[in-house]
Amino acid sequence: MTALDLSALRRAPKVLLHDHLDGGLRPETVLELARDCGYDALPADTAPALATWFREAADSGSLERYLETFAHTVAVMQTPVGLERVARECAEDLADDGVVYAEIRFAPEQHLEEGLTLDEVVEQVLLGFEAGESAAEVRGQNIRIGVLLTAMRHAARSREIAELAIRFRDRGVVGFDIAGAEAGNPPSRHLDAFEYMRGSNAHFTIHAGEAFGLPSIHEAIAFCGTDRLGHGVRITDDITIGPDGVPVLGTLANYVRDKRIPLELCPSSNVQTGAVDALENHPFDLLARLRFRVTVNTDNRLMSDTSMSQEMLRLVETFGYGWTDLERYTINAMKSAFIPFDQRLQLIDEVIKPGFAVLVG
Ligand SMILES: [Zn+2]
Repeated sequence: MTALDLSALRRAPKVLLHDHLDGGLRPETVLELARDCGYDALPADTAPALATWFREAADSGSLERYLETFAHTVAVMQTPVGLERVARECAEDLADDGVVYAEIRFAPEQHLEEGLTLDEVVEQVLLGFEAGESAAEVRGQNIRIGVLLTAMRHAARSREIAELAIRFRDRGVVGFDIAGAEAGNPPSRHLDAFEYMRGSNAHFTIHAGEAFGLPSIHEAIAFCGTDRLGHGVRITDDITIGPDGVPVLGTLANYVRDKRIPLELCPSSNVQTGAVDALENHPFDLLARLRFRVTVNTDNRLMSDTSMSQEMLRLVETFGYGWTDLERYTINAMKSAFIPFDQRLQLIDEVIKPGFAVLVG
């Protein structure tokens, strides 16, 4: 059996369902794009200093500083060149890390400051992903990217973004999402967008149960009909540990598990945003042992200074997982992807299982 270290983890075929395009830029790209577009508000002027600033701002526990990190990345993603480059490098970086399938999300409405239309924004990002997939293929790496279009939950454009997602459904967009501050912005405010997606036989996920607890998860499932839960860590609020040490599930936790609703868990990010106080207290392990459909995700690779391999390594170091555990979480993710069933099955049978079999030996 191959030793479970970072270099072996990078060779394992990995699947990523929850990753934000504007949270995964290379620090040097932020600097170069800022220089090219005349953006002069960056807090550092070398790549290492900027990388440190992003991580510390995200770590600070201050929501203001956390949001400021995205103000900088979004500021340099307003032009066709900037959008295309960020998407291309995203695909290449993930392929380099051994990710074979990823669903990357972004909010088109945040990239209109230089006059691009919503459609143009999506077109540029899709071009970038295609270029990144091709560049990876030349190096012998195979990655497929599906795009999720995100609407901001405090804004009023969710129906428009859902329609945009359907317009591009045959060109690489595989689903829809809403993101942003949960408190005060319940997902039910965006019901018409979800109804439109359901009416179009299309998939969506909802950021819910990260900062906010069970009501947010309940609404996302019961009223909105979400296919997956973005984070969903707070489902543990509905699980109590009985006097005999046996976990007891409430009706909502049972429902999520019964219906195999995937949880897009993002261990490092959940600690950074304070959804969980420390990795060793992350409910990932409890949820995995209870056989919820858990998946491992990065959320924001730049802010958390992480990668899929890193997230898996942290889980291995914290909870003692082995290859068969990691394979299960990877297959969980692939089963939960928004591409058609036959394509998911093909990736599981032809890429994931053979890839892990080599590592298990
Ligand atoms: Zn997220």
